[in-house]
Amino acid sequence: MALTRRHFLTTSAAAAAAGAFGRLELLAQQQAPAPITPVIKELRAGAGIWTARGGTIGWLVNPAGAIAVDSQFPDTAALCVEHLLKTSGKSEIATLINTHHHGDHTGGNAIFRPKTKQIVAHANVPKYLKDGYDRATAARAQQNPTPATPPPTEPTTIDKTVTDTWSFDHGGEHVSAKHYGPGHTGGDLVIHFEKANVAHMGDLMFNRLHPVIDRANGASIANWTVILQKVAAELPADTIYIFGHAGTGREVTGGRADLLHHGNYLAALLDYARAQVKAGRTREEFLKSTDVIKGFEDYGPLVMRPLAAAFDEVSAGGKL
Ligand SMILES: [Zn+2]
Repeated sequence: MALTRRHFLTTSAAAAAAGAFGRLELLAQQQAPAPITPVIKELRAGAGIWTARGGTIGWLVNPAGAIAVDSQFPDTAALCVEHLLKTSGKSEIATLINTHHHGDHTGGNAIFRPKTKQIVAHANVPKYLKDGYDRATAARAQQNPTPATPPPTEPTTIDKTVTDTWSFDHGGEHVSAKHYGPGHTGGDLVIHFEKANVAHMGDLMFNRLHPVIDRANGASIANWTVILQKVAAELPADTIYIFGHAGTGREVTGGRADLLHHGNYLAALLDYARAQVKAGRTREEFLKSTDVIKGFEDYGPLVMRPLAAAFDEVSAGGKL
């Protein structure tokens, strides 16, 4: 999984810097292709995970066909589509749901498109994808690109958007998608396969790993903590959760305690930022911090990834 982590860190650093889907995708295209070795695991009652590179893909396969949650990158998506069509025995995938707009979760949408009946995402996702594409196109024009530099790919059409909640039956399963307000981005969905009792958290869950916090696209650390508490309270005690990402040696699945731990980490991150701002630390100094947040040693020393968002959210909040 070291390869996965390295790739993730590279792309997430770019995401933090550029905040742009197009740039992420461009970066992914420029990197030398690594051999893809997917890991496929059933979690419970026909629901499982498919991992290779980028955000964890969740799946459900039953006699009604296959549902996928997130699409990683074009090269890995091609393998995932092939696998889901084969295991479901259908000529199409019934539904692809994106947990949010980031390129390591939607970069394979164009590969799913011709083989998928409907693609679903939160109502803010088309705008975030379009903004990212426009920024990447403008950045490319400024850089005097060589002919070898591929242009950004236009976002794939989303067929259906969800503002608050949406649910549907699929074979014997009941699938729900719910938006809990701003968290990792302003367009996150939690997907629950209710009978299997498996829920995909997207990037609302980084398991013992400092998260990307996409403030340019609507993130809120304060509400993110509330979201994790709400999901933990609403879903059954034995729900198996799928996480977007995990630290080295950590699982991309887990339980309610993991959600609450990450929620507590985010609250502690905000407290830490609040104390530092109050003490007069400049943004520049703050971004260099490698402190360990007390009680969250399992995340390791701070890295730049979450710091800018924490500083800006605290500064914008006014009351310290
Ligand atoms: Zn993300």
